[in-house]
Amino acid sequence: MANERKLTCIVCPKGCDLTVEFDDAGAIKNISGYTCPRGKDYAYAECTAPVRTVTSTVRCEDGEVVAVKTATPIPKSMIFEVMAAINAVTAPNDVKIGDVIIADVCGTGANVVITANR
Ligand code: SF4
Repeated sequence: MANERKLTCIVCPKGCDLTVEFDDAGAIKNISGYTCPRGKDYAYAECTAPVRTVTSTVRCEDGEVVAVKTATPIPKSMIFEVMAAINAVTAPNDVKIGDVIIADVCGTGANVVITANR
């Protein structure tokens, strides 16, 4: 049985099909299918330390919601913890694009920022 993993690159809309081959010790032996170096980097990271940018919404004091995201990617394993932190916060009514609503969310080093004006 082939010791490989199939991925779809999510770095750009082209969505290249990537194949990562592993040796018997589980180390990455070869990466193929990428059209540009970003795809190779994505495949390597996805198989060693996967990260994601989290997008969501937070409720404002008046009950309306506003869009947010992590300004930088966070470890994939911390998505649920970060989502819980985002769900627990209430934003002031006068927030605007770029405002930091949670600094260093869950110790990831990433800020959660507002991504839309109200
Ligand atoms: S490998 Fe490059 S071209 Fe292909 S989806 Fe990834 S970023 Fe886009």
